Amino acid sequence: MDFKQIISHCKEYGFVYQSSEIYDGLSAVYDYGPNGVELKNNIKQFWWKSMVQMHDNIVGIDSGIFMHPKIWKASGHVDAFNDPLIDNKDSKKRYRADQLIEGYCDKIEAKIKKDVEKAAKKFDDFDEAMFRSTNGRIIERQAKIDAVLGRMNKALADENMEELKQIIIDCEIADPDSGSKNWTDVRQFNLMFNTQLGNISGEAGKLYLRPETAQGIFVNFLNVSKTSRQKIPFGIAQIGKAFRNEIVARQFIFRMREFEQMEMQFFVRPGEEMKWYEHWKEKRLAWHKAIGSPESKLRFHKHENLAHYANAAADIEFEFPFGFKELEGIHSRTDFDLKSHQELSGKKLQYFDPELNENYVPYVVETSIGCDRMFLAVISNSLLEEEVPDSSGKSSTRTVLKLNPALAPIKCAVLPLLKNHEGLVNASKDVVNKLKLNVNVQYDEKDAIGRRYRRQDAVGTPLCVTVDHQTLEDNTVTLRDRDSLEQIRIAINEVNKVVTEKTDMNSLLN
Ligand code: ATP
Repeated sequence: MDFKQIISHCKEYGFVYQSSEIYDGLSAVYDYGPNGVELKNNIKQFWWKSMVQMHDNIVGIDSGIFMHPKIWKASGHVDAFNDPLIDNKDSKKRYRADQLIEGYCDKIEAKIKKDVEKAAKKFDDFDEAMFRSTNGRIIERQAKIDAVLGRMNKALADENMEELKQIIIDCEIADPDSGSKNWTDVRQFNLMFNTQLGNISGEAGKLYLRPETAQGIFVNFLNVSKTSRQKIPFGIAQIGKAFRNEIVARQFIFRMREFEQMEMQFFVRPGEEMKWYEHWKEKRLAWHKAIGSPESKLRFHKHENLAHYANAAADIEFEFPFGFKELEGIHSRTDFDLKSHQELSGKKLQYFDPELNENYVPYVVETSIGCDRMFLAVISNSLLEEEVPDSSGKSSTRTVLKLNPALAPIKCAVLPLLKNHEGLVNASKDVVNKLKLNVNVQYDEKDAIGRRYRRQDAVGTPLCVTVDHQTLEDNTVTLRDRDSLEQIRIAINEVNKVVTEKTDMNSLLN
């Protein structure tokens, strides 16, 4: 399905709404509806279970969104959490200079892709790598991309705003909205939102809304290591809201100004960070595969341009409907954060390693994933239109959300064949009352049974139980499987076990 269809499906079926919609919306903020909140909670639960509960050496915390303002000075966010901003003087639209340049390169890449696809159709034994490395036009285009990105990365690393503007001029990049090339200079824009404490005026009372959850972990390092008696290597995890004043926030819940992160900081001995960095890269990739993301839609992207705190970093990219984009970051953050907090707070943030008999500031490997981006990855990977036989055997199109059953908002729908039949309704409600102790279940009596099935397909419900006249005679019901469309009869007293087993999250944990 294309991106527009995914967005409208999310709205129509109660997954995601635009924030403040009745006031024409608030840009880049979204609300999760009744099905969305269930799916999002299941994603969070799967992350928490697999990262915290399945690891003896990882513990969780839940720190405040507001923190002492000095924390953001120490972390480098006050001085360096910037994006290069450029305005178009004619359209008055604002852009990130690096994204304009990347967009220019994406267009060239799309042309290369087209040529590759064309050639692939012509030859049966098509060798893409060979074609890319020998075709003159592709080599030329690829060289152009490499040169422009090389220049951009250097300019970003040097914080050279004039050079960024020059690249935009040299590439003749126009405003995607208006086509105008009338640009302002590029300048740095800090992405942190701030607010003011009520009882302290001026700079001293200036608070930031956290732009990442990680700092809440770093500043609790001593508390947690003392109270949990964990020995290095160990990790601290948390899930929580983060806020960034993104310059351009398009692409639905991919880039929001208020979003949720699931982060884990793993504290290790200095010098051992690369081993753990590789370990967590593999572990996190395996997690994405376990949740059902196909290997072909996942890839690593190594950072050439390292953030001020990192000595190695890679993204796990997912193929969203608008291309491969960052879904998760795995960063080797060195001892940068703990050391900075140690210096600014004056408190020793060290660990005594009993095996080495020495004190040191631990190194950190971080895994950081946006919950909302994961939600979008799951939805865009699962939402399909497919041809299936209808009740009369003819082919018809259905929209189905083929979610992993453990993630499905509703695990089972219970449907009486007729809505005005007391016996069927009562028997259905009995099934619901037993099921709801274990799973999220929905009772639905409205419309013909076929339409009810389709409604459940569209929200990803893996199983439907239909209660009919035979139920009243022999205590059996029909169990319909979302994916195979198979319908089998099972005893009522087996429903709970079958549904619970089929939708159990434990099956995904290894
Ligand atoms: P990007 O380059 O896309 O802006 P980033 O490199 O700044 O992302 P990180 O600081 O590494 O992102 O944040 C970790 C994760 O948090 C990202 O991989 C992403 O999943 C999520 N995330 C970051 N910014 C946003 C946002 N504005 N909206 C939704 N999720 C976000």
